[in-house]
Amino acid sequence: MSLIYIDGEYVPAENAAVSVFDHGFLYGDGVFEGIRAYGGRVFRLEDHVRRLFDSAQAIMLCIPLSQEEMALAIRDTLRKNNLRDAYVRPIVTRGYGDLGLDPLKCRKPTVIIVAVEWGAMYGSLYEVGLTAISVSVRRNAPDALPPNIKSLNYLNNILAKIEANVKGGNEAIILDSQGRISEGSGDNIFVIKNKKVYTPHTLNNLKGITREAVFELAEKNGIEVIETDLGLFDLYTGDEVFVTGTAAEVAPVTKIDGRIIGSGKPGPITKELMVAFRELAMSSGTPI
Ligand code: PMP
Repeated sequence: MSLIYIDGEYVPAENAAVSVFDHGFLYGDGVFEGIRAYGGRVFRLEDHVRRLFDSAQAIMLCIPLSQEEMALAIRDTLRKNNLRDAYVRPIVTRGYGDLGLDPLKCRKPTVIIVAVEWGAMYGSLYEVGLTAISVSVRRNAPDALPPNIKSLNYLNNILAKIEANVKGGNEAIILDSQGRISEGSGDNIFVIKNKKVYTPHTLNNLKGITREAVFELAEKNGIEVIETDLGLFDLYTGDEVFVTGTAAEVAPVTKIDGRIIGSGKPGPITKELMVAFRELAMSSGTPI
């Protein structure tokens, strides 16, 4: 039986519950992270904790733990569940309030940490590549709900995923309201053209921690990465396309909106980065 951290206590999963008056439940008022542990070490733990606190800061949510305490609680949750290879989900909500949306009515944030076993998200698709679909729903505008806040309000991403599902895709490609590539429903997007790697700036998407790791790996392997505005044309005509995320890791995309990308198989640079990412994940991180 897995143990869930709730406000400093470890509760068996079957009894782990939050109030129906919790504003995380009522309004998606809260923030979260998705983190992986590989071989007993937590990948980029400090970066994830910092992003959680940055998301909280942006919505004026005061997390009742220090960053160090949060990192410890995350490692503790893994330890208590005897997990070495796992996915961890810290969640901080505005807490218990009334049925009105006013956060001033919420006295104390709720802190939850869930840790589970979860293998690579796309299974056999890492071999053949994902089919992606550009969706009609636009990414939340940065001046409405900044995509850099990893908030509990994921309905925009879910609408994109629904549309990709309906249209037979494995992942959505979301554009911003100007038609620029934003990101996938839960990952960042890269395109390779003439041996150079391109990816959008992070104003209209989440600044991914896997994205950052891929920048470092590319640089180490002598591959140039350029942050720039991209459109669907750039993806359709790319030599290779891949997505990055904690859950997805590095995953090739071989078809977009019916267009075969490059050779139609995961390309050499994507494969090189997939291997390099695995090696990095297995050989770094904070011990549990
Ligand atoms: N974009 C979105 C919308 C996401 O939910 C995620 C997953 N956290 C990412 C990008 C990738 O970020 P990371 O590499 O930090 O997991």
